[in-house]
Amino acid sequence: MTSMAGLSADVVVIGSGMGGGTFAWALARRGIDVLVLERGQRLPKEPQNTSAEAVFVQRRYKPDDTWYAEDGTPFAPGVHYVVGGNTKVYGSSLPRLRGRDFEGTAYPSGISPAWPFTYADLEPYYVEAERLYNVHGTPGEFEPWRSAPYPYPALEHEPYVAETLSRLRAQGLHPTTTAMGVDLRPGGACIRCGTCDGFPCRWDAKSDAEVCALDPALETGRVRLVTGAFVDRLETDASGRVSRAVGALDGEALEVTGGTFVLAAGAANSAALLLRSGIANSSGLVGRRYMVHNNTHIAAIDPRRTNDVIFQKTACVNDFYDDMGDGYPGGTLQLIGKVQASMMKTHVTRAPLPVLKPMAARSMEWLVMTEDTPDPVNQVRLDSSGQIRVAWKRTNYDRHELLLAKAREVLKRAGYVAVFEQRFDISMNSHMCGTAVAGDDPTASVVDATCRSHDVANLYVADSSFFPSSGAQNPALTIAANALRVAEQVPA
Ligand SMILES: Cc1cc2nc3c(=O)[nH]c(=O)nc-3n(C[C@H](O)[C@H](O)[C@H](O)COP(=O)(O)OP(=O)(O)OC[C@H]3O[C@@H](n4cnc5c(N)ncnc54)[C@H](O)[C@@H]3O)c2cc1C
Repeated sequence: MTSMAGLSADVVVIGSGMGGGTFAWALARRGIDVLVLERGQRLPKEPQNTSAEAVFVQRRYKPDDTWYAEDGTPFAPGVHYVVGGNTKVYGSSLPRLRGRDFEGTAYPSGISPAWPFTYADLEPYYVEAERLYNVHGTPGEFEPWRSAPYPYPALEHEPYVAETLSRLRAQGLHPTTTAMGVDLRPGGACIRCGTCDGFPCRWDAKSDAEVCALDPALETGRVRLVTGAFVDRLETDASGRVSRAVGALDGEALEVTGGTFVLAAGAANSAALLLRSGIANSSGLVGRRYMVHNNTHIAAIDPRRTNDVIFQKTACVNDFYDDMGDGYPGGTLQLIGKVQASMMKTHVTRAPLPVLKPMAARSMEWLVMTEDTPDPVNQVRLDSSGQIRVAWKRTNYDRHELLLAKAREVLKRAGYVAVFEQRFDISMNSHMCGTAVAGDDPTASVVDATCRSHDVANLYVADSSFFPSSGAQNPALTIAANALRVAEQVPA
């Protein structure tokens, strides 16, 4: 491969995941010339896509990348360096944040800052993002107002799930359907298989950024994609504008010039790129205020019922989202894809499979998600050898403990005799955000309300880095909606 010096575009987008892929699609619609630089390759469609052994045990689609905790402990981060980024394996649960997530909240032990724009500002882009990502949903209690219906009706619950939900309803709860990005339209590609959450989709039926945004953008002919293109840093000219992106393409030098540069490498890698470049950091906040949500997977066991579900991820409980009964927000309980015994074994490594198999057959798995609050101590930085270091301690965790206790209580009342938990650790950072936070004050934020750098006029952020706070809903739809919003700001 020869050197790829000489590549140029009006807009250069770095990263092809939820932020970058959606951004490229929005610019293509405006007829703008776009070049997407993606460090990874296309994820192959192959039988291993649906193998729990290949995906979870052998970690077939995980990159060979090591990050380090502040004390030097290495860990494998929750990233996927492929076209489409983390959305290639995500669970495609695509809820909106709630109105109050955009407003400031003072928790008993932490502050969730306000966003520089409101839910109402983002709402039209949520509508568009739901259409782009074929979201299936039916508005339930505790959802924010919407100006248009969901594009498709919600996925139906299978009988085992429906039975559990009726037991929750009997307790006065309001379980509702999860907003899901799957192609279950009449004649759609989804075969309702058991491997969706955490697995790539061989049938292109999951609404990921490659299938729904990037490929349609490429089809317009206005967008070009270069894979295997690792952007190491951005260089500025005498006027302080970014003039080129430099890095490596399959081991050769990569140099790309452009009019506007858009960072969408994921929250940690976008921050690392800015830090390597030494730009856009007059606030000193690049990499800081790193958030990941407070998440725990729980497996609830009812030995009397076999869970024969195929597609489990259809329901959630948001009764505790705005108020846990003490005036403060809690978070969400959400069913996840059915967990197989071999997947359980990656966590409880010493338990023999013959023990885990009957357990998995009688368990139902949920994600308990609450908001973490931004703390400048929680930080992505580069060490002296250029490696990514992550300083992370849990924040606002008392809310998480309360919601976990509530989850155990309602599940036990619903007939589950035991509830096992897996609290997310530093490596389970797939909801990461906040490393180039948006705000109006240049001394307290990295980008402005349009996600343009306060310091560098032709530099935008389109991934989850801009989140001023994390809310307690899955982030991807908000990343997509914001990318659509920001893409309107970029000069043609
Ligand atoms: C198993 C799993 C399940 C999930 N489930 C859900 C869910 O159900 N709902 C939800 O909302 N969210 C879910 N998420 C999280 C969701 O996938 C992410 O929030 C979202 O993809 C983040 O978008 P992004 O644009 O910030 O980054 P990404 O989508 O990760 O994209 C970043 C891209 O940048 C590329 N890149 C990185 N560095 C460079 C560089 N230096 N040069 C060039 N390219 C670079 C990467 O290869 C990648 O393609 C899940 C994630 C995982 C891993």
